Amino acid sequence: MKLGLFGRKPREGWRRVPASPEMREYFGFTEMAHPQDARRWFEDLFARQPFTREAVEYFKTLRLEVGTLDEPMGGGYWFGDRGLVMLRGTQEEAAVHELAHAWWERRRSTERDDLMRVLESLGSECPAGYARIGELANVYCNGIKTQVDPNSPTGYWRGMLAEDNDHETFAGFCSGVMADARQMPPELRRFYAGFLR
Ligand SMILES: [Zn+2]
Repeated sequence: MKLGLFGRKPREGWRRVPASPEMREYFGFTEMAHPQDARRWFEDLFARQPFTREAVEYFKTLRLEVGTLDEPMGGGYWFGDRGLVMLRGTQEEAAVHELAHAWWERRRSTERDDLMRVLESLGSECPAGYARIGELANVYCNGIKTQVDPNSPTGYWRGMLAEDNDHETFAGFCSGVMADARQMPPELRRFYAGFLR
């Protein structure tokens, strides 16, 4: 039997193909999972996650790529111009995060300013019972002083609000509660209607 990376037995039934240009450039992989096997993995994920049918139908129209189906590694990208969701490995949180970006791509032109207003209000006061979102909103609004960011005028990461980064706000809240809309206060949850059940 052929041994996979790190001498381990490859996961049953997944094939490798030469990496796409994006997979090569962003993750340095020379091979990736065969598109059909990556798609099969995504379809299992769609069944496990509380995505609406509409969202799943949309996701199925995208290019879906995974570097390795053997390792639960995080990391991923959404390429809006190419309709590509690309994951390094099979970490569920990374998948939820990138799919949230893919969903938001089609909503943001009309909803981004409202989302950023809600972020600002959650950062100053988050309703009781939504601890995880409150914690994220605080970080997104105030940044992290110990996180060095050479591109920032303050030298540290100033947060989503200062950067006006609606894309990461939407995806970050979603993966932050692992697509569990019940953990979102109603004023935030409404942005996920149509996406999360
Ligand atoms: Zn992101």
